[in-house]
Amino acid sequence: MKGLKTFSRGGVHPPGRKNLTSSKAIKNAVIPTISIVPLSQHLGSPSECLVKAGDNVTEGMLIGKSTGFISANIHSPVPGTVKEIKDVYLPNGMLSKAVSIELEGEFDRLGKEQNKRDWEGFSKEELLSMIADNGVVGLGGATFPVNVKLSIPKGKKAEYFVVNGVECEPYLTADHRLMLEKAERIIKGIQIISKIVEPEKIAMGIEINKPDAIETMKKAAAEAGIPLDVVPLQVKYPQGDEKQLLQAITGREVPSGALPIDIGCVVSNVGTVHAIYEAVVFNKPLIERVLTVTGGAIANPQNLKVRIGTPISSIIEECGGFKEVPEKVVVGGPMMGFTIYDLDTPVIKGTSGILALTSSEIHGAVRTSCISCGRCIQACPMGLNPTTLFKYIDHGDYTEASELGLMDCKECGSCGFVCPARIPLIQGMRLGKRMLRKKKVKA
Ligand code: SF4
Ligand code: SF4
Repeated sequence: MKGLKTFSRGGVHPPGRKNLTSSKAIKNAVIPTISIVPLSQHLGSPSECLVKAGDNVTEGMLIGKSTGFISANIHSPVPGTVKEIKDVYLPNGMLSKAVSIELEGEFDRLGKEQNKRDWEGFSKEELLSMIADNGVVGLGGATFPVNVKLSIPKGKKAEYFVVNGVECEPYLTADHRLMLEKAERIIKGIQIISKIVEPEKIAMGIEINKPDAIETMKKAAAEAGIPLDVVPLQVKYPQGDEKQLLQAITGREVPSGALPIDIGCVVSNVGTVHAIYEAVVFNKPLIERVLTVTGGAIANPQNLKVRIGTPISSIIEECGGFKEVPEKVVVGGPMMGFTIYDLDTPVIKGTSGILALTSSEIHGAVRTSCISCGRCIQACPMGLNPTTLFKYIDHGDYTEASELGLMDCKECGSCGFVCPARIPLIQGMRLGKRMLRKKKVKA
């Protein structure tokens, strides 16, 4: 891998375990009889509920309206009747109001040919409002409303538009399959975004463990005649984080507290680019996404296109159920994902994977005391001192942790992965950041 680009500081090499699903084509998942659609699926304020129990909804109908600058629209994934509005736990353990919809009636989109819009005739502003109307948020995990991210502030310029095809989390292969199966659409999505942000250069980062995706994207770009620089990267976690990806590709570093646009860059992951294509060209709301269902306890691991609001239990059943009792079920990847305890938790826009892991797949050792080995410091891509941060958080001294850069933590889990004492460092960082945000809101 010598000579290939990567980021410079920290990083780890967890086992990839992508072979369970990397050769499996994306399949449409069964549509559940009851969909649970949370009103808080994005970064920012929850959407305002527009429906009540007893209302009929159509496929793709607006049921939750964006409530602010950082918020997003929510659409009904299925036709049906609203049964109730209730509280549900999201995969990250937060509580949200959700619309429960019983499947009923005709689909407006499913199985029907959709009219294509000629996007080239639209202005930047029109394209941005199509993206906002259709509730597109970042699908790489951050769930930031995309229309906000692509609105370049006055005085700033996008020198680089970087497409994130890294998918560095072990096990996950949804983006990999999208690049293999939907390369042409991704290229069109890149052209749409380029019209909005007007970059000087367009690049795409893909780790070298996906050589077929690198070739496919290069070929699709050449056929479309777009100047996309497909950059093969070393395999290193967390290269899919936008700060690490930008450093690997452009050599530029996003300073603490700043955004990619502050260093002249815009980043979008391939799933998001694909969703933008569908929103603009087919006027399709974000009502489904591709995710990977895998892990040693899943009978038939697959990549599935799943309607938002589908209970995780129904997806697991579709994959043949558990072939052995899982030690834990994780939503997202094993490094940054969240363990869930209720299999009726619904899929939301940010759900990139569902993992049912056996005891042999997880770090099962018992927690001991810190031995001051410094491995967590070496692993941290943000240059933080996780062991010291954890000690401050453990003692409730969030202010001191904040001064040591806690808010720069990306929650990548690299520190916890290398810790021989099995100290729950990422959980500590998440708690500390949550407490700091609470303090800020109070103040
Ligand atoms: S979780 Fe935070 S502290 Fe730990 S390695 Fe990642 S960025 Fe550093
Ligand atoms: S890796 Fe674990 S044991 Fe080593 S210094 Fe960090 S917290 Fe302590």
